[in-house]
Amino acid sequence: MSDNSQIKVVFSPEEIQRRVRELAEQITSDFAGQEPIMLGVLKGCFIFLSDLVRQVDLPLEIDFVRLASYGSSDTSSGRVQLVKAPEISIKGRPVLVVEDIIDTGNTLKWLVEYLEGMQPSSVNLCVLVDKAERREVEVEVDYVGFKVPDGFLVGYGLDFDERFRFLPGIYELNPQRGGA
Ligand code: 5GP
Ligand code: MG
Ligand code: MG
Repeated sequence: MSDNSQIKVVFSPEEIQRRVRELAEQITSDFAGQEPIMLGVLKGCFIFLSDLVRQVDLPLEIDFVRLASYGSSDTSSGRVQLVKAPEISIKGRPVLVVEDIIDTGNTLKWLVEYLEGMQPSSVNLCVLVDKAERREVEVEVDYVGFKVPDGFLVGYGLDFDERFRFLPGIYELNPQRGGA
């Protein structure tokens, strides 16, 4: 890295692939006989969704939303804005939202309410990383890749100021080590 950022591996590429395979098996069995819309939340979902859809053994449609949330750069607030709407009609369809991280829950709570207004047959949530201890609002997440207590994560689609998304594993940026 070109600056003094410290970075620690939290989930290796191999661990992530293993867990994605398990999630995909669960989704395949839960949605048997259906053709869900996998709705990725840009941009953080782009690698997770790509890996997941290639492991789920179901007919699928794929679409994206993009949201902006006002707050500081690494936490969200309840004020969420839709930057890009789904393009496929979700009315009467099962929707599986695929998101990188749930933290306070504000973003996904807003998204679920927005999607329910479009009358899908069901809305379920799949997140790669759950920071459950930091939740501020209640959100029911159906599929969780990994739980972490805290820390700012990058890689595997996750950015810090648009950097690090391309990294194959998940890393903690500037981990606290004895006051460092
Ligand atoms: P929430 O609305 O649940 O507080 O926050 C959700 C969004 O905040 C996530 O979709 C993600 O974009 C961002 N976020 C939360 N924690 C992290 C993190 O550790 N790393 C990165 N890169 N983004 C995060
Ligand atoms: Mg996100
Ligand atoms: Mg971000």
